[in-house]
Amino acid sequence: MTSTKRSEELFDRAGVVIPGGVNSPVRAFGAVGGTPRFMASARGPYLVDADGNEYVDLICSWGPMILGHAHPQVVEAVHHAIERGTSYGAPTEGEVLLAEEMVERTPIDKVRLVSSGTEATMSAIRLARGFTERPKIVKFAGCYHGHSDALLAAAGSGVVTFGLPDSPGVTGAATADTIVLRYNDIAAVEETFGEYGHEIACVITEACPANMGIVPPTQDFNAALKRICERYGALLIIDEVLTGFRVSPSGWYGLEGVAGDLYTFGKVMGGGLPAAAFGGRADVMDRLAPAGPVYQAGTLSGNPLATAAGLATLRAATDEVYARIDHAATVVAQAATEALSKEGVPHRLQTAGNLFSIFFADDTVLDFEQAQRQNTRKYAAFFHTALDHGVYLPPSAYEAWFLSAAHDDTALERIAEALPHAARAAAEAV
Ligand SMILES: *Cc1c(COP(=O)(O)O)cnc(C)c1O
Repeated sequence: MTSTKRSEELFDRAGVVIPGGVNSPVRAFGAVGGTPRFMASARGPYLVDADGNEYVDLICSWGPMILGHAHPQVVEAVHHAIERGTSYGAPTEGEVLLAEEMVERTPIDKVRLVSSGTEATMSAIRLARGFTERPKIVKFAGCYHGHSDALLAAAGSGVVTFGLPDSPGVTGAATADTIVLRYNDIAAVEETFGEYGHEIACVITEACPANMGIVPPTQDFNAALKRICERYGALLIIDEVLTGFRVSPSGWYGLEGVAGDLYTFGKVMGGGLPAAAFGGRADVMDRLAPAGPVYQAGTLSGNPLATAAGLATLRAATDEVYARIDHAATVVAQAATEALSKEGVPHRLQTAGNLFSIFFADDTVLDFEQAQRQNTRKYAAFFHTALDHGVYLPPSAYEAWFLSAAHDDTALERIAEALPHAARAAAEAV
């Protein structure tokens, strides 16, 4: 085993001044145990930690880095931008260019830039409520839309249930208008609309859920959501923060073709800097201030560095880039499932375009409850052995594996060499 001395020291120091030692919970390795690696640099498909250990990166910053790390065109665009100042608090050409690029690739007519996916979904919901003048929203258990209060709701018992706060600090009032349903259960959506249809402002759903592991929508699910929303005059918000510009040039829409009324984006469109967005139908978006009465604002919205990184990323993301990501994902998914099968480890590979995850479970996973029936101890053993062999997997069994166009044959071979060891460790774990 390589040394992790420096990461250990940093984690100790971090714990004194940062809650849990990290600035976003999953980074702390809580689900897999051990010391999180503090990263020092990254290039192409590789991460290098503070002790100088190199890893093939299978999280790609949780999605954004479709070109790999420190891609020359992105680095150059950010250099060029930073020399002209980092923020003006006034509009720029870069924002127009990025908005035009996004509108061209997706079904949206207009878009507003923000700084995080959380802000995008929160604002899209306010806009949907403002537009429809209705209070209630529908979300699905296991779909993650960031950490705003109304969306940190968990299902109560029963089919149609109003959300309960899913974190201390979220009030019952904040989730009282949030209805949480089982994913892929269109009958529950029908029933809910039958009862509350004329009070529901919107349904928000991940285009393809990827935050409980990959749980693709069943054949007609998204199309049925759209039909039901239309019938009752509610808006469909499709959250493409994770899938947008990653699974295809136009995101999940490019694979399935069901158009929502509003969309949220983030991750890839910021090219690794903080940028996100919400957009959609012009008549809805024009209700937003200053065009309309629904308030929304941001000091750093459309930040020139973030828009430069995002625009450079989208412009470099050619069809060939997507073909490379698709290929790398197929190779790694195949290698992982073969290694696990060879060791007799029960698992399910679930794929959605170039996204995939592996559930250490016996059955196909269609919803959050089923996703929770997996053996996370086996995943922890799998994860740590892969890490020891220089492969950085998501430090949680509930996350997707992310590839980039920079994952070349050398990187893929390193993954293929590590996986059999990881699979053996998973077989031995109880
Ligand atoms: C990551 C993510 C978010 C939240 O984005 P942040 O930038 O982390 O706030 C929202 N929705 C989905 C589907 C995501 O994957």
